[in-house]
Amino acid sequence: MLREQIQRRGIRSARVCDALRRTPRHEFVSPEHRAQAYADGPLPIGHGQTISQPYIVALMTQLLSLEGDETVLEIGTGSGYQAAVLALLARQVYTVERISALAQEAAARLQRLGLTNVRVIEGDGSIGLPAYAPYDAVLVTAGAPQVPAQLLEQLALGGRLVLPVGPRHAQTLERWEKTPSGLEHEAVLPVAFVPLRGEEGWAENAF
Ligand code: SAM
Repeated sequence: MLREQIQRRGIRSARVCDALRRTPRHEFVSPEHRAQAYADGPLPIGHGQTISQPYIVALMTQLLSLEGDETVLEIGTGSGYQAAVLALLARQVYTVERISALAQEAAARLQRLGLTNVRVIEGDGSIGLPAYAPYDAVLVTAGAPQVPAQLLEQLALGGRLVLPVGPRHAQTLERWEKTPSGLEHEAVLPVAFVPLRGEEGWAENAF
């Protein structure tokens, strides 16, 4: 997986590659999908949600430019796989999931794997997590209709926000950075994510 899907596509960060190497992806999928755990694509995790493609996990992680001492917020815990990767690269990870069953399963999985610096919180992450702000890095793993203002507010100076933004079936992966002279952002890649629901996301009944 690492050589064929990640490094060959240009992921150069040795720290990110090492974190992926150390994270057992098969532990984050159900038994019937275990044989495809390292395949080049997303997989279903129940409740209409997915664990993202390994390359996209690597790319989004690399875009956060983590050095090891950061406080990171992830929106969309899902299986907990992305949170586990982040936990190896930062000091503290908070991850928010709106589907209770997924949040509970991910928390149990992360605990079983001994990742003590990840906290799973059940709730609407489209409004961020003000209790532990500011964050050095924020990663959203569901597609937002527009950049949630509260996520930008909760970024520390120098902080990075990586997220898919745009219409339901045509999002762009964007990277935002809060610099001393203001917010900077770049478009990285067209992507397709499940929707970010909630107050600053899509309405529950939008589709
Ligand atoms: N990062 C996950 C992983 O490693 O398995 C994959 C995430 S999946 C592509 C997107 C997740 O975002 C789903 O589990 C979905 O329930 C969650 N989600 C959508 N809207 C949300 C919201 N407002 N707050 C928290 N989680 C949300």
